[in-house]
Amino acid sequence: VRLEVARGSLLVSGIGELVTNRPGLGAGPLGVLHGVDLVIDGGEVAFIGAAGTAPPADALVEAAGRCVVPGFVDSHTHLVFAGDRAAEFTARMAGEPYEAGGILSTVAATRSASDLGLLEVATKLAREAEAHGTTTLETKSGYGLSVLDESRCLDVAGKVAEEVTYLGAHVVPPEYRGREHDYVSLVKGPMLEACAAKAKWCDVFCEKGAFGPEAAREILQAARARGLGLRVHANQLTHGEGVKLAVEMGAASADHCTHLDRADLEALAGSTTVATLLPGAEFSTRSGYPDARLLLDSQVTVALATDCNPGTSYTTSMAFVIALAVREMHMTPDEALWAATAGGARALRRDDVGALGLGDRGDLVVLDAPTSAHLAYRPGVDLVLTVVRAGHVIASKRL
Ligand SMILES: [Zn+2]
Repeated sequence: VRLEVARGSLLVSGIGELVTNRPGLGAGPLGVLHGVDLVIDGGEVAFIGAAGTAPPADALVEAAGRCVVPGFVDSHTHLVFAGDRAAEFTARMAGEPYEAGGILSTVAATRSASDLGLLEVATKLAREAEAHGTTTLETKSGYGLSVLDESRCLDVAGKVAEEVTYLGAHVVPPEYRGREHDYVSLVKGPMLEACAAKAKWCDVFCEKGAFGPEAAREILQAARARGLGLRVHANQLTHGEGVKLAVEMGAASADHCTHLDRADLEALAGSTTVATLLPGAEFSTRSGYPDARLLLDSQVTVALATDCNPGTSYTTSMAFVIALAVREMHMTPDEALWAATAGGARALRRDDVGALGLGDRGDLVVLDAPTSAHLAYRPGVDLVLTVVRAGHVIASKRL
């Protein structure tokens, strides 16, 4: 997706509380300021100063004493798919266990969908994410699982998201059952060949029932040789080797991190690999949450993302994820907001988004609330009033 930068300047006036995520700019680790104006020019933050002192601008958003936070960075979603798994969710809530096989029903629906049908679903979800305050979005393939279908899923992904990830190694498709090695050869060979130019990242679902550490390592090595950055779905359902592999391979992010031991924690703490927590998945599968407190107290960099997908976390709301992180994973409201913005940026190795200092991309959310703590304090209430990306108002309830 090509980023559209606003031509004129935009003044956000009368901000009651501004979270900059630039500690040098204001109070505390989130760099919080009160009673300020902010101007975006050329797509970047160009001015922050006391309310009433901003230079004139071409457009105006009146914050009127409300809270402004950096736009959310959702670093983990699966938006390219067809079909619906509400019946599976309903059955699970009635007590049936989650089985990874549910992915295959989405694979069948995705393969039989048209390119246009896939684009319609992905576009609708990407717009929904924007309306909920997400200004930087990652999304993946992974429901095609053939050279043709992974390739066309990535074409769709590139039309709706800035950050695109090749996930040919999501599960082994049914036609390769009993021939996992052949499928791994396909994923790191002809499929990678067809997909590498359409993606920035390669991801592998390293899990019992998906891909073991040896296969995952082979795929990640091949992707790295093609210039792709690395991410790993790691330690979601069981304790395995995924986190250690992610660190060993220098992956930008190990995602899920639900089942960790001391060695995993130490590996993450001594690395540049971000632990991306996806509590929407535990919520929607009624499973135990990751130990965010232990990760944070071990100095691991933590990100939060939605994992939006039709099977195990069908939400685009980062505010909902923040509320879960605070209530269920014992993160403070400040820690959760940081993880959903600056943390997501780290997980994508981006330094231009996730913060609102001078020169940062002009991505912000005006909340209909006086402080950012309301994101967790008022769960289930949509507080997102206005969303700005690179100086453009991309969603607004009223202006
Ligand atoms: Zn995922």
